[in-house]
Amino acid sequence: MSVREEFDDWAAEGRDRGMEERHWHTAKHALARMPIEEGETVLDLGTGSGYALRALRDTKGAGRGYGLDGAPEMVHNARSYTESPEIAYLVADFDELPFADDSVDHAWSMEAFYYAEDPHHTLEELARVIRPGGTFFCAVNYYEENVHSHDWQERISVPMTRWSRGEYREAFREAGLHVASQDNVPDREVEIPEESEFPTEEWETRREMVERYRTYGTLLTVGVVP
Ligand code: SAH
Repeated sequence: MSVREEFDDWAAEGRDRGMEERHWHTAKHALARMPIEEGETVLDLGTGSGYALRALRDTKGAGRGYGLDGAPEMVHNARSYTESPEIAYLVADFDELPFADDSVDHAWSMEAFYYAEDPHHTLEELARVIRPGGTFFCAVNYYEENVHSHDWQERISVPMTRWSRGEYREAFREAGLHVASQDNVPDREVEIPEESEFPTEEWETRREMVERYRTYGTLLTVGVVP
C-alpha cells in the first residue's frame, strides 16, 4: 500500500485528530524549543492535521507555514481546520521537496520522518531547502531504543525505518547537518492506570507502560544547517 492509500484511510477515519491529541503531549515541548523568529517560514513534513504550524503561528508569530503531506485526504482535513491565509498545505512526497534552495527558515516533523522511502535523501533535501543557520526538529516515537515501538511496523503497510539514536545523529551528519541536540521528551500526560489494573489490553505490566511514555517518550534530534 502506498502512503496515499494508507493515510487517506486514516484521515477519513478521523485518526488525524486522534494523533494530534496524543502527539501534542510531547510535540508542544519540542515546538516550544524551536528558535523561530517572528515572520520566519516553517516547513512541516508529514503534517497530518496540520496542528504544528497553527501552534507555531500562535505562539511564536511564525510567518509562512507549509504543511507537506503525501495523503491528499490529510491535506484536505488540515486545510479545513486552518483559518490563517499564511499557512498552506500541499500534497508532496518526502523524496522531493518542492522548495527552492535556502527558502525555508526551519523545518519540523513529528512521527512521520521514518516513513521516508529514502530517509538519507530526505535529509539531503532538508539540508538543501533550509537556509544556513536554520534548523530541523525531528521528533519520533518509533526508534530502536524504544523497544515498545518495535511491533508497529506489523500494523502499517508503509515500510518504516527504525534507526537508533546514534544512527539519527550519523545520518544527520552525513547529510551535512550539525547535530545541535538529541534527547528524549517524556510524555507526562498519558494516563497510566494503577498497578492492579495490569495487564491491560495493550500492556503486560505497568513498568513497561511507564518506560514507554515517561522514560522514552519522544526522541527529538535537532539538526542545524551550516
Ligand atoms: N505530524 C502529524 C502526523 C503524523 S502521521 C502528527 O504529529 O500527528 C504521518 C504523516 O506523514 C501522515 O499524514 C502521512 O500521510 C505522512 N507521510 C508519510 N510518509 C510520507 C511521505 N513519504 N511523503 C509525504 N508524506 C508522508
